[in-house]
Amino acid sequence: MIEHLQDTTTLHNGVKMPWLGLGVFKVAEGLELVQAVKSAIKHGYRSIDTAAIYENEKGVGQGIHEALLEDKLPREKLFVTSKVWNADLGYESTIAAYEASLSKLGLDYLDLYLIHWPVQGKFKEAWRALETLYKEGRVKAIGVSNFHIHHLEELLQDAEIKPMVNQVELHPYLNQQELIRFCKDHDIQMEAWSPLMQGQLFDQPILNEIATKHGKSVAQVIIRWDLQHGIVTIPKSTKEHRIIENADVFNFRLSDEEMTRIDSLHQNHRVGPDPDNFDF
Ligand code: NAD
Repeated sequence: MIEHLQDTTTLHNGVKMPWLGLGVFKVAEGLELVQAVKSAIKHGYRSIDTAAIYENEKGVGQGIHEALLEDKLPREKLFVTSKVWNADLGYESTIAAYEASLSKLGLDYLDLYLIHWPVQGKFKEAWRALETLYKEGRVKAIGVSNFHIHHLEELLQDAEIKPMVNQVELHPYLNQQELIRFCKDHDIQMEAWSPLMQGQLFDQPILNEIATKHGKSVAQVIIRWDLQHGIVTIPKSTKEHRIIENADVFNFRLSDEEMTRIDSLHQNHRVGPDPDNFDF
């Protein structure tokens, strides 16, 4: 049972990762970003998800450091994720990218470092670099993002260390059931990006009906659906009231029937690129 914003899942290497975190995709450097990170931490979030390509690691780092000071928290209480961008995939270049992310964030380790996209012919070398960083104790956990089952199978052929996490697009219109099953069988924690389908699900009638019944918002119902499925998630907002709202999901429970109704909304619909067909 997940009962609190700071509850964690235990990754296969024993590291604890919060079930719910804040995403900061498309939030530019500046005060709004710093405030969003600070406000999330102030309201109890312990996990922040960024990436080199978001070009906002400096502000995320500033928000983290100010929050740690103001809320009198030690760094170890936070779980910080970043991702190596496609252009940096390679052994040496991935290690250099990790150092660059640390330096922008002003941190001396990350809790989770991910390969952002499965660029064919490149992701295995990058994985070797992540394994090195992990074995040297410079990162607490390593994982991948946007990996289909066949990408994971390819990676697992040569991997010394299994990814601890796979972060993919996942929401009621793209419920990723097969991938979830595969990851469960391999002890890989699933994590949902764009859980709210970037704001495009708020008019969905069934989600609205379920939300009204519980006196909750559609966003809260979707986040609760993720958690009850054992999926880590990182909804994005920069507005304090929504940051609070998205974390206020621990005082209600979706019934099995409601879970199934939401599962059945699946239509294999993506808002982001298909990992089998991207050109960046
Ligand atoms: P999201 O599904 O979290 O939706 C964000 C949008 O919904 C924003 O426009 C926000 O204003 C709105 N919103 C948030 N909470 C709301 C609420 N309670 N009520 C009304 N509107 C609300 O989309 P996202 O930002 O794409 O995904 C979340 C995070 O996932 C990102 O910030 C990023 O950290 C991560 N991500 C990762 C990848 C990847 O390739 N690994 C890709 C995209 C996003």
